[in-house]
Amino acid sequence: MTFEELGLKSEVLKSLKELGFETPTPIQQEAIPHLLKEESDFVGLAQTGTGKTAAFGLPLVSKVEEGRKIPQGLVICPTRELCLQISKDLQNYSKHTKVKVVAVYGGTDIKRQITDIKKGVQIIVATPGRLVDLTKRKALSLQEIEWVVLDEADEMLNMGFKEDIDTILDKTPQWKNVWLFSATMPKEVASIAENYMENPLEVSIGHKNQTNENIDHVYFTVKERDRYSALKRLIDYNPEIYGLVFCRTRRETADVADKLGKEGYNSAPLHGDLSQAQRDAVMKRFRTKGIQILVATDVAARGIDVDDITHVINYNLPDEIENYTHRSGRTARAGKHGESLVLINTREGHKIKAIERKIRTTFTQGNIPGPKEICEIQLMKLVDKVITTEVKENDIAEFLPLVMQEFDGFTKEEVVKKFVSAEFNRFIEYYERAGDLNAKAGEGRDRGGRDKGRDRGGRRDDLNKTRFFVNLGKRDGLNPGGLLRVVCDNAGLRSDKVGRIDILASFSFFEADNELADTIVQKVNGAEYEGHRVKVEVTKKREGGGKRRSGGGGRRRDHGGNRRSGGGQGHRGRRDSSRKRR
Ligand code: AMP
Repeated sequence: MTFEELGLKSEVLKSLKELGFETPTPIQQEAIPHLLKEESDFVGLAQTGTGKTAAFGLPLVSKVEEGRKIPQGLVICPTRELCLQISKDLQNYSKHTKVKVVAVYGGTDIKRQITDIKKGVQIIVATPGRLVDLTKRKALSLQEIEWVVLDEADEMLNMGFKEDIDTILDKTPQWKNVWLFSATMPKEVASIAENYMENPLEVSIGHKNQTNENIDHVYFTVKERDRYSALKRLIDYNPEIYGLVFCRTRRETADVADKLGKEGYNSAPLHGDLSQAQRDAVMKRFRTKGIQILVATDVAARGIDVDDITHVINYNLPDEIENYTHRSGRTARAGKHGESLVLINTREGHKIKAIERKIRTTFTQGNIPGPKEICEIQLMKLVDKVITTEVKENDIAEFLPLVMQEFDGFTKEEVVKKFVSAEFNRFIEYYERAGDLNAKAGEGRDRGGRDKGRDRGGRRDDLNKTRFFVNLGKRDGLNPGGLLRVVCDNAGLRSDKVGRIDILASFSFFEADNELADTIVQKVNGAEYEGHRVKVEVTKKREGGGKRRSGGGGRRRDHGGNRRSGGGQGHRGRRDSSRKRR
């Protein structure tokens, strides 16, 4: 089937050609002819990525009267992100017509939006809160609205917009048509259909509540304390990942993003504690692939409409199963393939079963990759990078003789080994003592089991480590990254030489190998950190029931027992300055 056969007008067909749309997607094939011809209500069950925006957008652009400079079509969606995306899409479809589309959403200047509306528009794309605000100010009349599109209706209800939607629909004429699009059909969405629609045509792409078939759903069972290490391994094993990591709370999101950032991963957080401007900046960088891994809460990630996401990682499963569908739907868009990976602990197997039942799909059980597999993948990535690097002959010509002289006497094999090791040793070091992270379901109930004693004992009370006290804390603007900088730069150490870090309000602690104690105390003591003089002391070693400084064991930043070396692509900027010469 072609777009011509769907009955769209020539101006719209011209735009589609320019956009490179050749064949209508299944939801477009079902919805467009019906919405163009009939004056009826409509329910479309479809995920993002199925082409649903065009499924309602093309008929809407075709149906509004260009000559009437009054809002006739209204699209309501849950987030500012989606609002901007939809309005941009509609503007593209209507490029060769006189139809005007305006986006109105919260968090920006309302006056400009009012001015835009006053200029005369046919279609408004809005988030519910701002729309209610505009109607209250009488800046917008919904009296002539003929078509209301509720996009991602389930999301809007999840986000608590039920009341706003009721208010808006009540202000629109009785005779309007409602076109409702939703990925899932929980009771609450069904009740909107019941209250505001009459005999709607219902089109479902795939089963109700089913997720996209191009997504592989894989779960990994790990011990709770290994969750973060397992996440890192999944990322390390997929060096080309362009992914979304979902956490359950803002705090968890901030923590995970913070740890990943410190360990050199190209990641950033997206959650409700950030200002709108910060969120916009993060999204812009993610969209342009300046950020490789976005760590987000469900709410903040709603409406993220980015193509090419390769992996969605569920660091923790959402409380609501519906949210799993939304999360995984962020990958495998526009016919592409994607992976939705889930980390569960040994007591969460039932959650996977519940999702399988609800979305009628099956998960496969995955194994967290072992150190050897990860090192191999990373090594091959490095080799690939070296092989495909363009050599800028002219730029390096003047330095080459000196470099060649240094390598004089090495065989080709030795040179290759040295280059590979120079980049790769940190990775090997990080993983060389790392074990298997896969756990069996139910294992977690076995309290006091063998693993517990070995892992915890070994990690926490390492007699080879010295614990240091630092006189600065959060109040002085110190964070783990800052502490690493001040210690490593002054003592001439690589960041992986510093172990666990605890930043408290007015002082901090960190650990390092015993043999570094003297150097650290000598070199770091008296250094400066953002205008403060740094004082470092060795704390008393814990012996038997010996005393610990209060707070040290309290708000503990758990590094999962991992050494801090860059398990990821990171730490590139931090080099060992004491380069050995032959
Ligand atoms: P949506 O489900 O509306 O978010 O669309 C997902 C992606 O598919 C967007 O990037 C659209 O531009 C693209 N798209 C939608 N319909 C088509 C089509 N018929 N042919 C090619 N790409 C499309």
